[in-house]
Amino acid sequence: MTDGCPCGTPRTRGKICFVGAGPGDPDLITVKGRKLLEQAGAILYAGSLVDRAATRYAPPDCEIRDSKDMTLEEIVDWLREKAARHALVVRLQTGDPSLYGALIEMTRPLEREGFDWEVVPGISSAMASMAVARETMTLPEVTQTVILTRAAGRTSMPEGEDLESLAAHHCTLCVYLSATLIHEVQRALRAAGWREDAPLLVVQKASWQGEEKIVRGTLADIREKCQAEKIGSQAMIVASPALGSSAWETLVRSKLYDPAFTHRFRRGLRRQHESS
Ligand code: SAH
Repeated sequence: MTDGCPCGTPRTRGKICFVGAGPGDPDLITVKGRKLLEQAGAILYAGSLVDRAATRYAPPDCEIRDSKDMTLEEIVDWLREKAARHALVVRLQTGDPSLYGALIEMTRPLEREGFDWEVVPGISSAMASMAVARETMTLPEVTQTVILTRAAGRTSMPEGEDLESLAAHHCTLCVYLSATLIHEVQRALRAAGWREDAPLLVVQKASWQGEEKIVRGTLADIREKCQAEKIGSQAMIVASPALGSSAWETLVRSKLYDPAFTHRFRRGLRRQHESS
């Protein structure tokens, strides 16, 4: 991108793309994200949660740096400096950049300085956790709502978003950043009236080859099971009335695929009979 600086000299600056790397498996990046990595002059990846393998698509001369030990200011400085030298700079983030990714804190100063930036979405760890556990987030007449949230830790929760209030919906809850706060998740679910035998799922490092752990339990025993598996970080906690449904004997069918249901792309059987 070319712009004018206050002194009147034209300047060339690259674009900064905030790319979702997905949950861990380098194959779970989007095609668009991968194409950007292939063209990047510099990549700053969040090494605490993104495997360096995620940068395998980078060209050989690409400048690659792990941001694990950097402050937000240092990250912004790095992106700014590299964008002065390369046409494309990628900030590679875990999962989807819009979830717990400090996205706006990074983009605000860059936006103010007139940098061109873009976000490429990624597969969030909640989706990956459900996939590896072969579970569904929604199920007809069981739950049609998903809440992506976290337990209050060092970051407090805004009013009305405490876990207990959210759990009162009895829908699917995907709890990020709370592996060390399972007791707090249990407390909130109990306070919201979830039964002791309600199923819970905890997935650590979903989609990381050889490192993934899937723990299934109930509200009563999930904490002990996680302790036994030594799960202390990088885990997704899921509470949902739909967990385990692949083994249920009876299910309400999705209307979309019901032979009697008419929609935009298919005429339901009953209608056909009625009109014939
Ligand atoms: N933007 C990310 C979330 C970053 S916050 C996303 O969309 O997934 C970091 C939290 O995400 C972790 O504490 C954990 O709760 C979850 N997480 C990230 N990667 C994970 C993985 N591979 N498996 C399970 N949980 C993961």
